[in-house]
Amino acid sequence: MKAAKHTVVSLDYTLKNNAGQVMDSSEGQEPLVYLHGVGFLIPGLEQEIEGMEKGQAKSVTVQPEHAYGLRRDDLLYVVPKSGFQGEEEMVVGMQVELDTENGPALAYIEKIDGDNVTLDLNHPLAGEVLTFDIKISDVREASADEIDHGHVHGPHGHHHH
Ligand code: ZN
Repeated sequence: MKAAKHTVVSLDYTLKNNAGQVMDSSEGQEPLVYLHGVGFLIPGLEQEIEGMEKGQAKSVTVQPEHAYGLRRDDLLYVVPKSGFQGEEEMVVGMQVELDTENGPALAYIEKIDGDNVTLDLNHPLAGEVLTFDIKISDVREASADEIDHGHVHGPHGHHHH
């Protein structure tokens, strides 16, 4: 069976960034099991998996536009350090959680300059050309319930109601 909309795909993968560093991998763990064709994966990767069958492997390069987007300067914010709890412990590269109009968001500390902190709300993989080494370990039909819920049920599937 080929991976197509509303099939359940089991995927082994290793994700590398521009610099060839491994950012994420299923190696040594269960494969990622997901409902194909509903936007669970980044678009550039889902597109490449479309039509693949069990046992097939390939290396996929995805441009930022089809992954986590380009880095945006308007997602850098300068805020006073005193607005944070535990401000003494703040260091560049640290992740902080913010309350925004659209709910909680994660940001990285880009720069600390006196009492000013520059926060970066870009996705950590924004602007990166990503390489995925993938192998399809299974493809099956999704059940009607899975399609209805938009996620996978059963072993290795996440389920919450
Ligand atoms: Zn469900």
